Amino acid sequence: MKLIDGKAISQQIKDEVKDKVAKMKAEGKEVALAVILVGDDPASAVYVGNKKKACEYTGIRSESYELPADTSQEKVLALIDELNNREDIQGILVQLPLPKQIDEKAVIDAISPDKDVDGFHPVSVGRLSIGEKGFLPCTPAGVIELIKRSGIETEGKHCVVIGRSNIVGKPMALLMLRENATVTICHSRTKDLKEICKSADILIAAVGKPKMVDRSYVKEGACVIDVGIHRLEGKKLCGDVDFDDVKDVAGAITPVPGGVGPMTIAMLMKNCAESLEA
Ligand code: NAD
Repeated sequence: MKLIDGKAISQQIKDEVKDKVAKMKAEGKEVALAVILVGDDPASAVYVGNKKKACEYTGIRSESYELPADTSQEKVLALIDELNNREDIQGILVQLPLPKQIDEKAVIDAISPDKDVDGFHPVSVGRLSIGEKGFLPCTPAGVIELIKRSGIETEGKHCVVIGRSNIVGKPMALLMLRENATVTICHSRTKDLKEICKSADILIAAVGKPKMVDRSYVKEGACVIDVGIHRLEGKKLCGDVDFDDVKDVAGAITPVPGGVGPMTIAMLMKNCAESLEA
């Protein structure tokens, strides 16, 4: 069994971004990311802190806008409009979820697709679905990097994605299609889920249910990618895959933590560095 090391691969990507940003700086071009955080959700504050740290590491300038929980939607939209028009800002990220009085869709739609480093804008989603160049959502794009950099073949392989969310499952399936896999998307209404999963050469779990995928879902030798993150009692992390049960059946597998998790921020940095070239 090959353990797919997301920690090492994400570090490699951050180092590549660091080199690229340094080269750009030498040519007089700076990369900057604006991060908007509304309210004081502790998990969001941790995510934003990690993004800032990754910016510091890679040499990307970050500007942070921390707004109170009762900020109006108009105020957030006005800030996005200002950032859209600023030439010294290449990427805009709004940390989700937003407080109730703010419509997430309106906020995502307001970000210029040329600065949409999270890849959530409908234009970015459309570009992905018709195979045009555009920003890719960071978590599924990170899964593609894990698969490619681990030397796992995708062409003609059967890939089963469990989950059809807009953030992970759907774009994941589109990206695997782009890698010439034969793709099946499963979801909460799928019949014979186990049978379908058992036919996968590459099984990607983005289902949001702790340890749901055990060895009865996995074909001998399959590559298993676990997107799930759950904090168990006692604070231990686990994924959607029962790692200990599956590891002896899988040909390759991502652990949790240290698999897909660290890839998301690395891909955000990559998107920021590439935004200048867009
Ligand atoms: P979601 O809840 O939006 O979507 C879950 C999907 O799974 C849905 O499409 C649903 O149809 C499907 N599903 C639910 N129960 C099912 C069942 N019993 N059988 C088959 N399908 C079922 O979740 P999401 O935002 O896509 O996230 C999925 C997981 O990935 C979560 O654990 C989340 O924490 C994690 N996640 C990790 C990262 C990261 O950076 N690594 C990023 C985003 C999400």
